[in-house]
Amino acid sequence: MEKICVSCGIGFSNRKKFEKNWDEIQYCSKKCRKNKLQKSDEVLEKFIVEFAIGPNPPKVIHARTISRTYFGVHWKEFHQRVLAAIRRLSHRNILMIHPYKKRLKQDVSFEIYKKSD
Ligand SMILES: [Zn+2]
Repeated sequence: MEKICVSCGIGFSNRKKFEKNWDEIQYCSKKCRKNKLQKSDEVLEKFIVEFAIGPNPPKVIHARTISRTYFGVHWKEFHQRVLAAIRRLSHRNILMIHPYKKRLKQDVSFEIYKKSD
């Protein structure tokens, strides 16, 4: 069975190194275990959702737009964090990532799920 890494939001499956304590494993790698989620990641997630709901929300939003808006000129350094936040939000069914397009390797587009209330 696949698990979702709580840090990068990418799915990973059981491997030999996880065998003994698979039930407790939360991170896909050492790197992710070191990069535990911080308050700033929570703030970023909130920003993404608010941006996507906004007063005049575009139907489809690109991760790149979020990175540029949030981080300004140095956005490329932080883009992986934005992608991870988008993946985490999609696993919580807050937004839907659109089918992968090859030429957009470092980008994803998504839309927010409409609340049904
Ligand atoms: Zn990970």
